[in-house]
Amino acid sequence: DPRLQAISEAIRVIPHFPKTGIMFQDITTLLLNHKAFKDTVDIFIDRFRDMDISVVAGIEARGFMFGPSIALAIGAKFVPLRKPRKLPGEVISEAYELEYGTDCLEMHVGAVVPGERAVIIDDLVATGGTLSAATRLLERMGAEVVECACVIGLPEVKGQRRLNGKPLYILVEPR
Ligand code: IMP
Repeated sequence: DPRLQAISEAIRVIPHFPKTGIMFQDITTLLLNHKAFKDTVDIFIDRFRDMDISVVAGIEARGFMFGPSIALAIGAKFVPLRKPRKLPGEVISEAYELEYGTDCLEMHVGAVVPGERAVIIDDLVATGGTLSAATRLLERMGAEVVECACVIGLPEVKGQRRLNGKPLYILVEPR
């Protein structure tokens, strides 16, 4: 896809953020570039339009920057998956491993109904731990996770293109 190179080039790399040795992939510069931002969303929309998806779940915070536009365009609902103690209603939680310690994602009970077909959106996948926790949340509520999708896939998942047996859709790799 000829659009992917410009999308890749619109993502800024910031060395040593948030700590020494990390090459941070900063998608805020992609959001500043109207064509690259629109192309990114359009690629996801074209992929998911005819897959009978009724749920787009976005992971806090950068999944919130892409997910709602996709949901509106394909006629799906948007479900925010949030960090602990942010959602006001009754929630279910799933913990996942970080490099040091664990973190947690939460989803509102009743946000999806059993049998709904879902995709999960985030900006970047590294180990896949975050997307795996997100998948468990949706499956506990009876939804079917059809695919996880990210703008950037780190080499950890390169060539694999799957996560716990589920399809993983990635637009670009880090430059
Ligand atoms: P994983 O759980 O190891 O796959 O890490 C993915 C999560 O870490 C996602 O929610 C990303 O937003 C975040 N993340 C890790 N590294 C970066 C980065 O370089 N840029 C933006 N987000 C990152």
